[in-house]
Amino acid sequence: MKLDVDVLRYLSKDDFRVLTAVEMGMRNHEIVPSELVHRIASLKHGGTYKVLKNLLRYKLLHHDSSKYDGFRLTYLGYDFLAIKTLVNRGVFTAVGRQLGVGKESDIFEVAREDGTVLAMKLHRLGRTSFRAVKSKRDYLRHRNSYNWLYLSRLAALKEFAFMKALEDHGFPVPNAVDCNRHCVIMSLVQGYPLVQVNQLQNPDSVFETIIGLVVRLAEHGLIHCDFNEFNIMIDDDEKVTMIDFPQMVSVSHQNAQMYFDRDVECIFKFFRKRFHLNFQETTDGDDGSDIDTDEGSRLSFASISKTAGFLDKELAASGFTRKDQDVIQKFIGGSIEESGSDDEGSDDGNESETNETNVDGLDSLHLAEQI
Ligand code: ADP
Ligand code: MG
Repeated sequence: MKLDVDVLRYLSKDDFRVLTAVEMGMRNHEIVPSELVHRIASLKHGGTYKVLKNLLRYKLLHHDSSKYDGFRLTYLGYDFLAIKTLVNRGVFTAVGRQLGVGKESDIFEVAREDGTVLAMKLHRLGRTSFRAVKSKRDYLRHRNSYNWLYLSRLAALKEFAFMKALEDHGFPVPNAVDCNRHCVIMSLVQGYPLVQVNQLQNPDSVFETIIGLVVRLAEHGLIHCDFNEFNIMIDDDEKVTMIDFPQMVSVSHQNAQMYFDRDVECIFKFFRKRFHLNFQETTDGDDGSDIDTDEGSRLSFASISKTAGFLDKELAASGFTRKDQDVIQKFIGGSIEESGSDDEGSDDGNESETNETNVDGLDSLHLAEQI
């Protein structure tokens, strides 16, 4: 998605006032009636009309007259609101080139006043899940675009909270700088996603480090759930950084064992294929938990997860509540169950019943602003 931030320069105070009015209206309306936009923005002399035209031209709003005359924010409009807030807070002053296109996000470079470059992740929930969900049932008939914004906001909030907590516990993750709406600002990771790396000096020790991370996460009560070559960055010194946290779950999750095994298996598979590491065949124990390698004894999920626990305590204190977790888990749960990894698309195409999300937690809306 193109993010033409030059437009930001041309937007006036009134433009943002009207954009914000639409955002406010979307708390209760799928499409915000024009009349309500006028009322919330309360610009003098019918000024709102002219501004709306401008915002439509820049594609920051979408006009919908199917049921009544009204407007909703586009992702671009939502981007601009977040960017403006963060710029006003002094978090960064400029937006640069696009760093990556994730499954459900766009990542850009942003620069601080002193020239430090950071990474900005704009969550775009619904971009791919939309298709998956849509194919099964008309999920969106009653779940409007507003909910995608809401879910993207929750995803950002969750990612920010988890990144911070992981960093505090010494995990190699980007530094979580700030968060607003669906946007997370973090330090820029040097290096490349592992998927782009064809040669390593020390594949064995990189493998050890990476598997060690999955284990240590589980010991802290967490499972990444999308732990693969797309979400592991590696620099020229072969230092590893993990990214992408919105889908993480607690080891107390009902499918924890399956997620953990899948994360581990992804890494084994990738290193076997790409770096020709030889592992003994994997075997499934009765509980499906053991992987029969030299690392096997360390990888027994049942024993690792016994010491679980920082998720509920620390993350609850971070502003990301159990309820937020439930809402996002219900939604993302569906997509992680069907994909598991960014690679080659879905393997079995099974759609989880968890797609049947009933998103009604509107009271979480202000969380991003509180942290
Ligand atoms: P998604 O959830 O959509 O998969 P990711 O967080 O995995 O998004 O990011 C997508 C891509 O953007 C990554 O594969 C990586 O190339 C790039 N990227 C993400 N975060 C950073 C960062 N902090 N520094 C540098 N590149 C990043
Ligand atoms: Mg990713």
